[in-house]
Parts: sequence; structure tokens; C-alpha cells
Amino acid sequence: MPIGLYIHVPFCIKKCLYCDFTSYPLSGPAVKSYLESLIREINLYGTALADEDKIITSIFFGGGTPTTLPAASFKTVLNAVRSSFFLAAGCEVTVEANPGTVDGACLTELRQAGVNRLSIGVQSFHDRLLGVLGRIHSAAQAVQAVQLARKAGFDNLNLDFIFGIPGQTNHDWRETLHRAVEIAPEHIAAYSLQLEEGTPLAQAAERGAICVCPEETELTMYQDAVAFLTAHGYSHYEISNFARPGKQCAHNLVYWLNQPYLGLGPAAHSLIKGVRFANDISLAGYCDRLSREEYPVENRTGLTVADEMSETVFLGLRLTAGVDLNQFYRRFGRRAEDIYRNEIAGLIQKGLLEISEGSLRLTTKGLPLANVVFREFV
Ligand code: SF4
Repeated sequence: MPIGLYIHVPFCIKKCLYCDFTSYPLSGPAVKSYLESLIREINLYGTALADEDKIITSIFFGGGTPTTLPAASFKTVLNAVRSSFFLAAGCEVTVEANPGTVDGACLTELRQAGVNRLSIGVQSFHDRLLGVLGRIHSAAQAVQAVQLARKAGFDNLNLDFIFGIPGQTNHDWRETLHRAVEIAPEHIAAYSLQLEEGTPLAQAAERGAICVCPEETELTMYQDAVAFLTAHGYSHYEISNFARPGKQCAHNLVYWLNQPYLGLGPAAHSLIKGVRFANDISLAGYCDRLSREEYPVENRTGLTVADEMSETVFLGLRLTAGVDLNQFYRRFGRRAEDIYRNEIAGLIQKGLLEISEGSLRLTTKGLPLANVVFREFV
């Protein structure tokens, strides 16, 4: 079965104040050792997997900050992937880009290496809010990154935004949405700020040093984003994601449709043939294991059919198209409506779910309460 390939690049110039992703300070020797290990990991899977499991429909370089790597290394890594796997026609190749780490030359090199989609972490068009988040770039640099990407030949751009930032007003958020639409990316992702435990921003909130965005404001911001972006030709296809026709993110659809994926790099997760596994989170441990030609896998969990069914439902509900009930039946030989009869009935009664045109989906009321719905299927 075709797979999505995720490559985790674990370096950042400076840790953002809200971030709990795995990343390490950038250093030349660490990058060198990481890249050598990554190539080894690609080759290991290239040798071990059967040909039918090596067809790749999407590649996603995430982080961390992939654009901290030397631009030439994308060509090296993608060539290694091409020699070990089979890239499907039209394979989407995305690189996450931080506006503070790109210039015209590097973006041109990425495009020439075969990268055909950029996901630019803009987050806000207000420098004061970028400061609250601890981002390393300004709003002007984000606009410039988009212009440079277009000049380098990218015709498929995602811009990432965060709302619910301490100190952000509804007016600020609407301004950011306006500017986003003016720039006209093919895809927009808008996530509410999560105060992850242990991050400096969460600690500041606990001390009362910053005012957390009230839930009602956050809800209004979400509703504003949905109304504004859909009115400007973006289809709202996933809880937090919006796309021009035909520009949905193929890689993220792999996750939402609960299809197989292989994750490479420290802390990367995989799901292959019903087994979920995660790589060593430590860069040193990851490199060490690969230097001995061992898989850098820290833990493996075999999923039961019940696990797979529940994940297929709650991941699929993230999509506004919902869970295709016929497809669910073809995959598992059982009807989701029978397995989750009580849960579905209860949520329909509360107005959070609906069954329409053969799909089980969140209602408009259910979209912002998705986590409440998902809990019923875990
Ligand atoms: S750039 Fe991204 S991964 Fe790095 S610290 Fe900031 S949010 Fe986290």
C-alpha cells in the first residue's frame, strides 16, 4: 500500500516560547551527524521494505525548522529517497519554512531539488504578537518569504497562522486574515494557540504574567476564520485547514484518512501494517543507533482492529467531508453505525454529529467542540 513519508528535522535557531516539539540548537557537527544518520535510515528501510510498501505519495519535511539545513542537503536526501523508494507520479514534496531562515537562493535550490510545496510559518502579521510567541522573524520577513517563494517557482504555498495569542484582539486576527487572503496562498492553516505544559508561555500564564485568551474570544476568532476564508474561495476541508480547489495537503490527508506513513529522523512516528512505532527522541541516541546500522526505534505498539476502527473514525471526523461510511465498511467488514451505535446516537441528539450523503460528520456546532466528540470514540 502507498505510504506518506515524514522526515523530522530537529533543529531550530531559537526555541519559540509556546513550542514543545523536539528540536535542538543548530550546530554544524550536529547537522552533519544527523544528515549522515538520516541517509542510513533511508537506506535501511529501502533494503528492508517490500517493493509494494515503498511507493510514496507524499513527502513532508517537518520540524524543528527544516530550512535551517543547508539547501544542498535537500537534493542529497531526496536523491537517497528516490534510490530507495518509488515516488508516485505527482508526489507532493513539502518543506516547512521559517521566514527567518530563507532567502531567494535557498528557495531556488529547494525548488530545483524537487520540493514542490512550501509551508511557511507566518503565525501573525503583527510583530508585537510574534514577539509574544518568541518567533525569530517579523511580519515583513514573512511577506518577503512568500514573494521569494513565488519568484523561485513555488505555485503551492501553505501559510500557517495561530490565533488566541495573549494580547491578540479580534481586530488583530481579522487584519491577519485579510492580509493572508491578499497574499493569496493556495492553502491556509489556522490553529488556536495551545499552552503546552512546561513551555515558557504556559509558565507565564500560570504566574499570571500574561492574559490567556478567553475561550469565547477564541471561538469567535475560529468562526471569523471559517466565514472569512470560505467567503474568499478557500474550502474548509479540515477543522483547521483551508484550501483552494485541488490544493488540499496530500500528506496530512494520509494522517486524517488513517493511512500508512513512515517517519524518519529523531522523534518521528510511523504507522505501517497496523504497527505504530516511534524513533528515539534524542538526537545522540538516534545517530548512535544508526551508526551501528540499527533501527532507531524506541517503542512499537501493535494496534488491534478496534484501535484501528476508532482511529479511523476520530481522525476522519477532522475532515469536514467526514468519515465515508461505505469506505469504513469496505476496510473493516463492519458498519461504523453498528459498532458505535450509542455514541453516534447521543452525539446526533446533542447536535454535534450528523449522517448525510453516506458520511458521518461534525455539524457546524460540533466543529469547535471536536475534542468532546473524539473522546466518545477513543
Ligand atoms: S520554529 Fe517551530 S519547531 Fe522551532 S521552536 Fe518555533 S515552533 Fe518550535
